[in-house]
Amino acid sequence: MMFQNDNYNISAKDVLTKLFEAFSYTSKDSYVFLCYLDEDLSRWSKSAIEFFDLPGEYMYKAGEIWAKHIHPDDLEAYQQSIYNIMHGISKYHSISYRARAKDGNYVLCTCRGTIITGYDNTPKYFAGTIKNHGIQSEIDSITNIKNLYSFFNETSNLSLKNYTFGLIGVNNFSDLNDIYGYTFGNKILKEFAQILIKNTSNYGTLYRMEGTKFALCSKNLSIKDFEQKFKELKEFCRKGFIVENMKINLYIGGSGLNVTTNDINPHTLYSCLKTSYYNSLHFKQGEFVIFNDTLGDEMYKSLERLNTIRDCVANDFEGFFLCYQPVIDAKNGQLKGVEALVRWKSDEYGLVPPNSFIPVLEKDSTFSELGNWILKTAMNEIKPLLVRHPDLLVNINLSYTQLEKSDFLENVYKIIKETGFPAKNLCLEITERCRLLDMDLLISSTEVLKSYGIKFALDDFGTGFSSLNVLKKVPVDIIKIDREFVKDIENSCPDQLIIDTVSHMCESLHLDLCVEGVENDHIADYLRRYPISSLQGYLYSRPIPIDEFIKKFN
Ligand code: C2E
Ligand code: CA
Ligand code: CA
Repeated sequence: MMFQNDNYNISAKDVLTKLFEAFSYTSKDSYVFLCYLDEDLSRWSKSAIEFFDLPGEYMYKAGEIWAKHIHPDDLEAYQQSIYNIMHGISKYHSISYRARAKDGNYVLCTCRGTIITGYDNTPKYFAGTIKNHGIQSEIDSITNIKNLYSFFNETSNLSLKNYTFGLIGVNNFSDLNDIYGYTFGNKILKEFAQILIKNTSNYGTLYRMEGTKFALCSKNLSIKDFEQKFKELKEFCRKGFIVENMKINLYIGGSGLNVTTNDINPHTLYSCLKTSYYNSLHFKQGEFVIFNDTLGDEMYKSLERLNTIRDCVANDFEGFFLCYQPVIDAKNGQLKGVEALVRWKSDEYGLVPPNSFIPVLEKDSTFSELGNWILKTAMNEIKPLLVRHPDLLVNINLSYTQLEKSDFLENVYKIIKETGFPAKNLCLEITERCRLLDMDLLISSTEVLKSYGIKFALDDFGTGFSSLNVLKKVPVDIIKIDREFVKDIENSCPDQLIIDTVSHMCESLHLDLCVEGVENDHIADYLRRYPISSLQGYLYSRPIPIDEFIKKFN
């Protein structure tokens, strides 16, 4: 064992060593720390010392050393939390912050610690763990096989040409979870993984990817052989197998890809496999779909672009920015609100509109980070406008991935507090895809946020199936009607009837109605005959960056 500092007290060291060893465990992404408070002497896990380039396992004044690694924006909260625990104001230290690693990049860490008191009830030790979210475990905890981080790590070290990849997943798994519950669902998944291992271990490496998807990476199996194996497996699963005396039938889908170039990165490859896999599930009744790379360059290019965008989310939201479009009061033509719309731009791809990345990125669990960034940026950028427009409403679009996250409500609350943006000036838009969410979750989330004073708008009203059902159950304040219904309003009888009905319905329900897609004076004039609260569209302004918006509307 290496000691960095030779003058510490030996008995303190002995105690530390004994206690530390009782605590420590070997997970690569979690560290243990223990501080003997009398002497402010600490011991930290060796892996933390290496990852963050700290002076040594034993450190005097480790808190001060650590503070130098914490991101300046997070430092105050960290110091406050340490102060609270050292002064008995709180019992636990539990905080997330960014910490600078050896390579100079910041990683997100969650630190939890507590004070252990001595016989005389005075604080003796400060002990806890730090979870490094920048390092991922490479084994899936349910199936015990390699996970998707391992997939990306290992495949990025291979020259992929001539490898065959397969992706297999279960179509009816959410039904099984509903019927048997989550715990039993995990057992089914475990058994399914065993079946896959038995059938594929001679041919390559199996990984558990997101959800119920498993990937196989093989050097010696041709795509045709893989297809044959898949068919046998599909038949086997359809007939069913036994899990704890219960017969379980699985309906699986699958896709495959033979790599013909060394010029493909594993993320693009995985996107290709997923694209064909969803094709298999949704359009081919689970038949094996071979990714057709004769679809060629176009396909690869758009997938490459998506991967670049995805990397930018992780890279401090590089290239992302917001544009703002005014919402105009239909009665007096004054500025009433503003909708924040995200954009992404790079030298290589130019300006990319949200419709070409949001629907795909939304499927990633990391999207909620981008969602939080959008919330925070919009509130910070619009806040100065509230001086002259105290009732201005900023509309921010939500994705279902955000709403699904268990910490969503807490995050919104935190962002409001951090930015000092008044909750009453915030309106969250429930976009069309949010309606795929569990209705109870949608109702409870909106109710909690409404209790803070936040408003809700039902976006894209009239598109999709569930608008009326959501309207009935979710307590929204505003309905936004899609531009599809107004672009031809002067000539289209059905559209006139729809606007007439919806506007009167909103009036009766005391809901505001915002009509989108007002592109010219004719449409605006025509709409004046209905009880509509606000208008949005190119007639007033296209979405524009914040400085332009301030110049034009403040
Ligand atoms: P949306 O929420 O319905 O946003 C309105 C879209 O209509 C915007 O497109 C806007 O530029 C466009 N638009 C506004 N006025 C007119 C008009 O007069 N004529 C026409 N033809 N179009 C008009 P954009 O910015 O491309 O956004 C497309 C969609 O992407 C949005 O539809 C929204 O569903 C999604 N989106 C945009 N920003 C975000 C975001 O920050 N978060 C999430 N979750 N989704 C976003
Ligand atoms: Ca919207
Ligand atoms: Ca809309």
